[in-house]
Amino acid sequence: MKDLDWGNLTFGYRKTDYNVRCYYRDGKWGEIEVCSDEYINMHMAATCLHYGQEAFEGLKAYRCPDGKVRIFRVKDNAERLQSTCDGIVMPKVSTEMFEEMVKKVVRLNQDYIPTYESGATLYIRPLLIGISPQVGVHPAKDYLFLIFVTPVGPYFKGGFACNKYAIVRDFDRAAPLGTGCYKVGGNYAASLRAHMYAAGKGYGSEFYLDAREKKYVDECGAANFFGIKNNTYVTPKSTSILPSITNKSLMQIAEDLGLKVERRPVPEEELPTFEEAGACGTAAVISPISELDDLDTGKKYVFGDKPGPWSTKLYETLRGIQYGTVEDKHGWTTVVID
Ligand SMILES: *Cc1c(COP(=O)(O)O)cnc(C)c1O
Repeated sequence: MKDLDWGNLTFGYRKTDYNVRCYYRDGKWGEIEVCSDEYINMHMAATCLHYGQEAFEGLKAYRCPDGKVRIFRVKDNAERLQSTCDGIVMPKVSTEMFEEMVKKVVRLNQDYIPTYESGATLYIRPLLIGISPQVGVHPAKDYLFLIFVTPVGPYFKGGFACNKYAIVRDFDRAAPLGTGCYKVGGNYAASLRAHMYAAGKGYGSEFYLDAREKKYVDECGAANFFGIKNNTYVTPKSTSILPSITNKSLMQIAEDLGLKVERRPVPEEELPTFEEAGACGTAAVISPISELDDLDTGKKYVFGDKPGPWSTKLYETLRGIQYGTVEDKHGWTTVVID
């Protein structure tokens, strides 16, 4: 293993030895290539640069206490990428090819998978871009699918810690029938102004209401929202929310733990009724919400500075499954290195 200071990693990019690539040309995918170059050589008129033909994914490899390295729900990431491909008209990467390339890049860079004790992980970033030149607005003919990895520490300093969010109305991340449900870079570009605005006021992130009526909860920055009340796990349903695999897993775990699960529109007025609230996603797993401030109305929804009992239980169960210490009843994990 590389002699890196695993305990002090941030959620940033760090060079590893290899990435894996596959090109789509003449209507078909080519051979999987192993590459040590961090750069991509492409045409300046590539569609990804001008018209946003870019899709990505994010998952992690976990070095477990039993010595194995596991990845979590890789098929779900492959299927979500396929849905994104439909959304912005790109050729699909098969689930088999996706999984093969993920395993390959993790094995090639196994020296960079942080120790279990550090709490850090190896972040896996698949990327699909249109690379052929196009000046008119059309989908590209040629594509590059690439996966790189980078060791990361916890997303938020302090790991499982509470955060304050600012409800913003002056910005939308995505339109109801737009690309919010696809994992594309353009949604992130659209979120940067809101993010900088909220961060500038001292918040961990911005919090979005639905773009049409500004009435219902949408996303919590770049994470899904959930609230807990009366033994029920509640998460918003909307066409502009990215279907989080963490949220999908938490819904299942909540059910397994005996909670009721509701996925439905969540009006802002319902916020004060939640006993616990959190943001969820691969990067932070669960980030409990301590407070939500509506910057326009001055309303504050306070959930407390400590993670609640259900959030803690959900977090520990999900982390336990990812690290192989809690039984994986649903077959979510794949051992990549035995
Ligand atoms: C990736 C992402 C999430 C979280 O999805 P996971 O599969 O749980 O990592 C949530 N919201 C947005 C906007 C995202 O891009």
